[in-house]
Amino acid sequence: MRSGSAERGGYRDPVPAVPVRDDLRALEGYHSPQVEVRVRLNTNESPTAPPAAWRDALAAELSRVEWHRYPDRSATELRRSIADVHGVDPGQVFAANGSNEVLQTLLLTYAGPGRRVATFEPTYQLHGHIARLTGAAVVEGERHPDFTLDLTEVDRVLGEAAPSVTFLCSPNNPTGREEPRANVEAVLARAPGLVVVDEAYGQFASWSALELVDEDRPLVVTRTFSKTWSMAAARLGYLVGPSWLVAELDKVVLPYHLDAAKQIAGRLAVRYAGDMERRVRQIVDQRERISAGLAALDTEVFPSGANFVLFRPRHRRGREVWQGLLDRSILVRDCSGWPRLADCLRVTVGTPDENGEFLTAMQEILG
Ligand SMILES: *Cc1c(COP(=O)(O)O)cnc(C)c1O
Repeated sequence: MRSGSAERGGYRDPVPAVPVRDDLRALEGYHSPQVEVRVRLNTNESPTAPPAAWRDALAAELSRVEWHRYPDRSATELRRSIADVHGVDPGQVFAANGSNEVLQTLLLTYAGPGRRVATFEPTYQLHGHIARLTGAAVVEGERHPDFTLDLTEVDRVLGEAAPSVTFLCSPNNPTGREEPRANVEAVLARAPGLVVVDEAYGQFASWSALELVDEDRPLVVTRTFSKTWSMAAARLGYLVGPSWLVAELDKVVLPYHLDAAKQIAGRLAVRYAGDMERRVRQIVDQRERISAGLAALDTEVFPSGANFVLFRPRHRRGREVWQGLLDRSILVRDCSGWPRLADCLRVTVGTPDENGEFLTAMQEILG
């Protein structure tokens, strides 16, 4: 028998028969609206595919997988490949299904009920969201109006909340700001618990907190194959941190969470690091083109160390400009309604042609 349906605008919304956890009732899901468009510049993916040679090598190895067997539970070869890229010990690498699962495992291990997690807003929404899912309380610190970190506020938040986990994101999403090394060191000096630096866009930036990772320091740096490696479909991310911390994460994560195909995909990808670096250089060039183009258009442009640019039209509503772009079948991320980001839009760097179309459309809309 079908029952418990409520009519809402022609959409039948089932009334849940079993209540969710009390602390999850007010929570909203993570949304990234998708619309069919010609030019898609809204999710910070790479505009180009990985090399054909990688695709061929992957297909060849996939044909030899023993599908009736569980995969290598500790992903030994994948970890070794990633460790070699960074010149660290494989025991200092933890890989998972996207860096989001890395973050989830970190938070399951070090956050949870009765603990606090600090973020400095605006920043990547999933840091706070996943922390809440584990039952932790999230303490949101503010930034300066130009989105740089306010060390007085850092002092206050870390002093008052004594968080078990403190998040930084460099370059920060959605602002594009790189965190200077001095800021990361200042946070490390003050944080009573673990410091996580999310470097999903690390290869686009001028420095990396990886150089600060040390066995004696409660610091981890997370990375992903989704952006610079052009492998968002593979769902693979990792962290580099002290080996004692990695050992704790290995106890918490589900057994066999990394399937055989993903382990191969990641292990093969690092052979094409040269291609990745070439793509990164082109995107950085194009990012500077977009930033300069927008700055010439009566628009406030925030400095970016990533593969996207946050901007705010000075004399038009952000939402109107977003709609004007959509009318031309160009989709960017509308941040204009988000807290602290009034009228801001975020454009992902695309191919040179796509960026040209975007800038031309912006000229038409603002001109
Ligand atoms: C895109 C992004 C991620 C992505 O993670 P995956 O799960 O690896 O795709 C993580 N952190 C930030 C800040 C991001 O922008």
